Amino acid sequence: MVVKPRPKKAGAGVLLLWRLLCARRPGGDVAHDPVWRLWDYTRLHGRRIVLGCLCGVLVAAFAVLGNAVLIKKMVDALQQGNLRVVTLCALCTPVVFLLKGVSYYGQVYLLSSVAERVAERLRNTLFGHMQGLSLGFFENRKTGGLTATIASDVPLLQQTVTVALMEGVIGPATVVGGVVVMLYLNWRMALVTIVSLLLIGTAISAAGRRMRRAGEAIQKSLSDTSALATEALSAIRVIQSFGAEEREAQRFREESRRTYHGSMRVVRINAALRPTVELLGATSVAFILWYGGFEIANERLALSSLMVIFSITLSITQGIQQVSRLSMYRDRIYGAAQRIFSVLDTQSEIRDAPTAVELDQVAGHIAFDNVHFAYAGGEPVLDGLTFEAQPGEAVALVGPSGVGKSTVATLIPRFYDVTGGAVRVDGHDVRQVTTRSLRAHIGIVAQETILFSGTIRENIAYGRPDATDAEITEAARAANAHAFIVQQPDGYDTVVGERGVTLSGGQRQRIAIARALLKDPRILILDEATSALDAESEALVQEALDKLMQGRTTIIIAHRLSTVRKANRILVLGNGRVQEQGSHEELVRRNGIYARLYEAGLGGAVGDRGNPE
Ligand code: ADP
Repeated sequence: MVVKPRPKKAGAGVLLLWRLLCARRPGGDVAHDPVWRLWDYTRLHGRRIVLGCLCGVLVAAFAVLGNAVLIKKMVDALQQGNLRVVTLCALCTPVVFLLKGVSYYGQVYLLSSVAERVAERLRNTLFGHMQGLSLGFFENRKTGGLTATIASDVPLLQQTVTVALMEGVIGPATVVGGVVVMLYLNWRMALVTIVSLLLIGTAISAAGRRMRRAGEAIQKSLSDTSALATEALSAIRVIQSFGAEEREAQRFREESRRTYHGSMRVVRINAALRPTVELLGATSVAFILWYGGFEIANERLALSSLMVIFSITLSITQGIQQVSRLSMYRDRIYGAAQRIFSVLDTQSEIRDAPTAVELDQVAGHIAFDNVHFAYAGGEPVLDGLTFEAQPGEAVALVGPSGVGKSTVATLIPRFYDVTGGAVRVDGHDVRQVTTRSLRAHIGIVAQETILFSGTIRENIAYGRPDATDAEITEAARAANAHAFIVQQPDGYDTVVGERGVTLSGGQRQRIAIARALLKDPRILILDEATSALDAESEALVQEALDKLMQGRTTIIIAHRLSTVRKANRILVLGNGRVQEQGSHEELVRRNGIYARLYEAGLGGAVGDRGNPE
């Protein structure tokens, strides 16, 4: 059940805590703070958060009050020899702990469920958003980093938000409750205790800061040492040729010594920390006892109250520790949320224009009209490319590697936008139609066939999940794939991919052809395989491709003479434009670039870049 957003009422109680978690820099822009933005995801569950926090307050209340009242009553009764009350108190203890336990369960359950729901929503939003981003985005980012955003940042956020919300409530509630009870029992004792706690707290946090700084210094010198070793070992040839081994060893020794000194500083602080804390703790206990004894002697304090103050002091110490951890949680949440929102803030470069129309039926006419194109920050690849492909025509693109053949192919399904001119399908500029409807008419068979982990059947039906078994088998037959599919352990239900059966290059390609056949697009893009298929496999693939091409406009990134010969027209690309065009025979007769490519062996003269599928 998703609680309806009630930001003002339900969320208001925890807003303050949330605000404490954000606004990292004083005076910083809270609205753009990633932690603040996370609130948008969290406040949907305002009621659960409020209930969870109330449970947290109950936990603190039972811990402080329950303890205080029970200890006081018990000690008072013991002093008066009232065994009935002592027994009653003893019986009440498990009840108080039971109530505290139930509240704790409620708090953990409610707040964790909020964090889990937020994490689920973030995961789904992130994945959905990433899927819609343009190819350019993925080229600039490592896929590993993007997966890490889902696989590590989201769980990190979820765990930290849960703990932060829990401790952010229990900590302050315990401290406030504890101080109030102490003040109620004896304000002088309360002040003495608070001052002692503050002194210890300051000393410990100062030591903690020094430890952190020293730890960071060690990390830095460790990574410097390792960088130095990596650099020196990878340049060993140069070092040895200059006879600089001793100089490098000396540099390494110096860096190594720095790490040693840094580590020893941490060792010293660490070794001194525990005795110091114990000394301070024991001194303040002695001081509190001494002062308490003084108060008891003056009949201003009961022995039971002194014991309660002692017990509460322990709770308050824990509460302070919890509060002091909040800034660490905030930094953690900040980092993870920042990485998540930086992905969510990325807008796809390829977006449907508001006026974009659906491309229903197409004949398959393709036109490149004075197209200019460069990849982000790169040199121009296409420089006024103009050509047309008539419906049903097969056009082969040839030219040296890197000339832009694959780029031409990626512009038709609008994986990138042209920087000048226009790409048209049936007269429609591809930027003026919805990408979904445009791509529905385009089939791509790339050099490297990507099969998803799943069954062969699912892979063939990827573009048309509603296809019937008969249609799938028919497509597989036409793609010369049926024969090998039925030989697989589970036929069409054989699982391919990561944990499944591995198929040969030719087999994968025939599955991709079956997939394209089933999709039945008007326009086909073939990035012809150069990978050495064995002769039989090649013949089967070629035959399947011939069937696939029938009646479709086909743009072929051609590597093989056999394909080039079959194409109705060959475009020879160079300098970002069409340099020559015509049939094989015409171009050979012309004795230009194509004739030279042909003589050099076409296969060796063309690119081998894979196409996105
Ligand atoms: P071909 O298919 O003819 O081998 P491409 O279209 O793959 O040529 O590449 C044309 C030029 O664009 C090359 O210089 C290549 O390095 C560059 N290029 C290709 N893809 C990208 C990309 N995704 N990002 C940046 N530059 C690219």
